[in-house]
This record gives sequence, C-alpha cells and structure tokens, in this order.
Amino acid sequence: MSTEPQRSCPSCGDEFSGAMEFCPVCMLRHQHAPLPLERLKDVPQPVVVLLEKLLEKDPTQRFQTPNELLQEIPTITGAIDARRRIARQSLQKTSSGASRVGTRKPMSITQA
Ligand SMILES: [Zn+2]
Repeated sequence: MSTEPQRSCPSCGDEFSGAMEFCPVCMLRHQHAPLPLERLKDVPQPVVVLLEKLLEKDPTQRFQTPNELLQEIPTITGAIDARRRIARQSLQKTSSGASRVGTRKPMSITQA
C-alpha cells in the first residue's frame, strides 16, 4: 500500500505517484531533450561544448568548482585558436570519477 498521493502529469496526463513534477516518462523525456544548440551556429564549437557542460541537466555533471572551470579554459581557447573541435568527453572527467580521484591538488589562486 503506497501512501504517496497520485497526481496527474501536467504534460501527458498520466497518473503517477511521487514528488516529481512530471511522470517518470516525461521526466526522462525532459532529461534527454537536447539543448537548442543549433541557434549557436556562429559560436565556435569548443564554446558550445563548454556551454553544454555548464548547462548540464544533471548538476553532478557540471563543473563542481570554479577551479574546474578555470582548468578547462586553456583547452577551450586553445581549440578556438587552432580552429579545432573538441570532444565533449574531454570536459567530462568528473563523470566517471575514475581518472582523477586522489590527485586533487590544493587550491591555488596564485596564478600569473
Ligand atoms: Zn507525463
């Protein structure tokens, strides 16, 4: 017996229970809806990749600290200068967690 209230999904009208705004199906659809990046066609591709990273729907996939963002800036600007494209995965080191665990350096704000 579930005591969770049944609600009807504002998107598709299906009944569902839980605290989410939409039913699981619509939540999933929303999660996978692509960003309208085609409107950014005049923006260099590395910047689009960076934007995608900044706008990840899953907050754990975004940069977790300003330092993580700063570390990626040379990659982005270097790729723009060289007119290269970069792989989205190249900014996703936080997703697997396997590559950099334990190698976190102490924060340093003494650049330049
Ligand atoms: Zn729905």
